[in-house]
Amino acid sequence: MDAQVKREIPVWLERQILLRGGAVNSRPRFRVVWGGNRMRANLVTGLLEHPYQKDRWHLEMWKEELQDYEHAYVFANCPHREPAKPWCNSCFVSGGEYIDATLAIIEARIGLILRVEAMQKEALDKNARMQKDALFGREEAKKEEAVERIHDAVKDAAPITVKRSMNTPLYISADQALGTEKFRQVN
Ligand SMILES: [Zn+2]
Repeated sequence: MDAQVKREIPVWLERQILLRGGAVNSRPRFRVVWGGNRMRANLVTGLLEHPYQKDRWHLEMWKEELQDYEHAYVFANCPHREPAKPWCNSCFVSGGEYIDATLAIIEARIGLILRVEAMQKEALDKNARMQKDALFGREEAKKEEAVERIHDAVKDAAPITVKRSMNTPLYISADQALGTEKFRQVN
Protein backbone atom coordinates (compact mmCIF):
# COMPACT_ATOMS: atom_id res chain seq x y z
CA MET A 1 0.00 0.00 0.00
CA ASP A 2 1.42 3.34 -1.03
CA ALA A 3 0.89 5.81 1.79
CA GLN A 4 1.07 8.75 -0.62
CA VAL A 5 -1.95 7.58 -2.63
CA LYS A 6 -5.06 9.48 -1.60
CA ARG A 7 -7.89 7.04 -1.26
CA GLU A 8 -11.54 7.49 -0.52
CA ILE A 9 -14.31 5.03 0.04
CA PRO A 10 -17.06 5.00 -2.62
CA VAL A 11 -20.23 7.03 -2.12
CA TRP A 12 -22.45 3.94 -1.91
CA LEU A 13 -20.35 2.66 1.01
CA GLU A 14 -20.59 6.05 2.71
CA ARG A 15 -24.36 5.77 2.41
CA GLN A 16 -24.33 2.29 3.96
CA ILE A 17 -22.23 3.57 6.87
CA LEU A 18 -24.74 6.36 7.42
CA LEU A 19 -27.61 3.86 7.36
CA ARG A 20 -25.87 1.55 9.85
CA GLY A 21 -24.48 4.15 12.24
CA GLY A 22 -26.97 7.00 11.94
CA ALA A 23 -26.29 10.72 12.12
CA VAL A 24 -25.68 13.40 14.76
CA ASN A 25 -26.91 16.87 13.75
CA SER A 26 -27.08 15.67 10.11
CA ARG A 27 -23.44 14.50 10.30
CA PRO A 28 -22.73 10.79 9.86
CA ARG A 29 -21.76 9.31 13.23
CA PHE A 30 -19.20 7.06 11.57
CA ARG A 31 -16.88 7.53 8.66
CA VAL A 32 -14.06 5.57 7.15
CA VAL A 33 -10.97 7.53 6.16
CA TRP A 34 -7.66 6.67 4.60
CA GLY A 35 -4.81 7.43 7.01
CA GLY A 36 -2.84 9.20 4.28
CA ASN A 37 -5.75 11.61 3.75
CA ARG A 38 -6.42 12.44 7.35
CA MET A 39 -4.71 15.60 8.50
CA ARG A 40 -5.07 17.34 11.81
CA ALA A 41 -3.54 20.50 13.24
CA ASN A 42 -1.14 19.83 16.07
CA LEU A 43 -2.38 22.18 18.77
CA VAL A 44 1.14 22.61 20.18
CA THR A 45 3.17 23.19 17.00
CA GLY A 46 0.29 24.51 14.89
CA LEU A 47 1.44 22.25 12.04
CA LEU A 48 -0.76 19.87 10.09
CA GLU A 49 0.10 16.25 10.62
CA HIS A 50 -1.22 12.73 10.01
CA PRO A 51 -2.76 11.57 13.28
CA TYR A 52 -3.18 7.95 12.11
CA GLN A 53 -1.15 5.28 10.42
CA LYS A 54 -1.05 6.50 6.82
CA ASP A 55 -1.36 3.23 4.86
CA ARG A 56 -4.45 1.85 6.60
CA TRP A 57 -8.16 2.49 6.61
CA HIS A 58 -9.53 3.95 9.84
CA LEU A 59 -12.99 4.07 11.31
CA GLU A 60 -13.84 7.34 13.00
CA MET A 61 -16.73 8.29 15.22
CA TRP A 62 -18.19 11.79 15.61
CA LYS A 63 -17.75 13.20 19.10
CA GLU A 64 -20.13 16.03 19.80
CA GLU A 65 -18.08 17.20 22.82
CA LEU A 66 -14.95 17.46 20.66
CA GLN A 67 -16.79 18.73 17.58
CA ASP A 68 -14.55 16.39 15.63
CA TYR A 69 -14.19 12.81 14.48
CA GLU A 70 -12.24 10.60 16.84
CA HIS A 71 -10.36 7.43 15.98
CA ALA A 72 -12.42 4.33 16.70
CA TYR A 73 -10.70 1.49 14.87
CA VAL A 74 -7.85 0.73 12.47
CA PHE A 75 -8.58 -1.84 9.78
CA ALA A 76 -5.57 -4.07 10.36
CA ASN A 77 -4.91 -7.57 11.56
CA CYS A 78 -2.32 -9.67 13.31
CA PRO A 79 -2.39 -13.11 11.69
CA HIS A 80 -0.28 -14.52 14.55
CA ARG A 81 -2.81 -13.56 17.14
CA GLU A 82 -3.11 -15.70 20.27
CA PRO A 83 -6.12 -15.60 22.58
CA ALA A 84 -4.18 -14.24 25.57
CA LYS A 85 -2.18 -11.73 23.48
CA PRO A 86 -4.32 -9.88 20.94
CA TRP A 87 -1.43 -8.60 18.80
CA CYS A 88 2.11 -9.92 18.43
CA ASN A 89 4.95 -7.46 19.00
CA SER A 90 6.06 -7.18 15.37
CA CYS A 91 2.48 -6.47 14.18
CA PHE A 92 2.10 -3.98 16.99
CA VAL A 93 5.19 -2.14 15.71
CA SER A 94 4.37 -2.46 12.00
CA GLY A 95 0.68 -1.66 12.44
CA GLY A 96 -0.40 -5.16 11.43
CA GLU A 97 -1.56 -6.70 8.22
CA TYR A 98 -3.52 -4.49 5.84
CA ILE A 99 -7.29 -5.10 5.72
CA ASP A 100 -9.52 -3.77 3.01
CA ALA A 101 -12.43 -1.68 4.32
CA THR A 102 -15.25 -3.82 2.97
CA LEU A 103 -18.91 -3.28 3.81
CA ALA A 104 -19.04 -6.49 5.89
CA ILE A 105 -16.02 -5.55 8.00
CA ILE A 106 -17.15 -1.93 8.47
CA GLU A 107 -20.67 -3.02 9.43
CA ALA A 108 -19.35 -5.63 11.87
CA ARG A 109 -17.15 -3.04 13.59
CA ILE A 110 -19.89 -0.37 13.77
CA GLY A 111 -22.31 -3.03 15.07
CA LEU A 112 -19.85 -3.97 17.80
CA ILE A 113 -19.31 -0.34 18.84
CA LEU A 114 -23.08 0.29 18.94
CA ARG A 115 -23.67 -2.86 21.00
CA VAL A 116 -20.98 -1.90 23.52
CA GLU A 117 -22.45 1.62 23.65
CA ALA A 118 -25.96 0.28 24.28
CA MET A 119 -24.63 -1.98 27.06
CA GLN A 120 -22.80 0.95 28.67
CA LYS A 121 -25.91 3.12 28.43
CA GLU A 122 -28.01 0.36 29.99
CA ALA A 123 -25.50 0.02 32.82
CA LEU A 124 -25.48 3.79 33.37
CA ASP A 125 -29.29 3.93 33.32
CA LYS A 126 -29.45 1.09 35.82
CA ASN A 127 -26.91 2.83 38.03
CA ALA A 128 -28.86 6.10 37.82
CA ARG A 129 -32.07 4.24 38.68
CA MET A 130 -30.42 2.61 41.68
CA GLN A 131 -29.04 5.95 42.84
CA LYS A 132 -32.49 7.49 42.45
CA ASP A 133 -34.01 4.63 44.46
CA ALA A 134 -31.36 5.06 47.11
CA LEU A 135 -32.00 8.80 47.19
CA PHE A 136 -35.74 8.24 47.40
CA GLY A 137 -35.10 5.75 50.19
CA ARG A 138 -33.02 8.35 52.02
CA GLU A 139 -35.78 10.96 51.60
CA GLU A 140 -38.31 8.49 53.01
CA ALA A 141 -35.95 7.70 55.88
CA LYS A 142 -35.56 11.43 56.60
CA LYS A 143 -39.34 11.86 56.72
CA GLU A 144 -39.67 8.88 59.06
CA GLU A 145 -36.88 10.27 61.19
CA ALA A 146 -38.67 13.63 61.44
CA VAL A 147 -41.89 11.92 62.54
CA GLU A 148 -39.85 9.89 65.02
CA ARG A 149 -38.30 13.07 66.41
CA ILE A 150 -41.74 14.61 66.93
CA HIS A 151 -42.86 11.45 68.73
CA ASP A 152 -39.76 11.57 70.90
CA ALA A 153 -40.35 15.24 71.71
CA VAL A 154 -43.94 14.47 72.73
CA LYS A 155 -42.76 11.46 74.74
CA ASP A 156 -40.06 13.55 76.44
CA ALA A 157 -42.62 16.22 77.29
CA ALA A 158 -45.23 13.78 78.55
CA PRO A 159 -43.26 12.13 81.42
CA ILE A 160 -42.42 15.57 82.89
CA THR A 161 -46.12 16.44 83.05
CA VAL A 162 -46.89 13.08 84.57
CA LYS A 163 -44.00 13.36 87.03
CA ARG A 164 -45.14 16.79 88.19
CA SER A 165 -48.68 15.64 88.76
CA MET A 166 -47.37 12.56 90.57
CA ASN A 167 -45.17 14.79 92.77
CA THR A 168 -48.09 16.85 93.82
CA PRO A 169 -48.67 15.90 97.47
CA LEU A 170 -52.04 14.29 97.69
CA TYR A 171 -52.80 15.81 101.10
CA ILE A 172 -52.73 19.31 99.68
CA SER A 173 -56.21 20.33 98.82
CA ALA A 174 -57.08 21.86 95.55
CA ASP A 175 -57.43 25.22 97.27
CA GLN A 176 -53.95 24.93 98.76
CA ALA A 177 -52.51 23.95 95.48
CA LEU A 178 -54.23 26.81 93.75
CA GLY A 179 -53.39 29.26 96.51
CA THR A 180 -57.04 30.12 97.17
CA GLU A 181 -56.82 28.80 100.75
CA LYS A 182 -56.66 32.24 102.34
CA PHE A 183 -60.04 33.12 100.93
CA ARG A 184 -61.66 30.20 102.70
CA GLN A 185 -64.26 31.32 105.16
CA VAL A 186 -63.68 30.07 108.67
CA ASN A 187 -66.77 29.95 110.79
ZN1 LIG B 1 1.21 -10.49 14.32
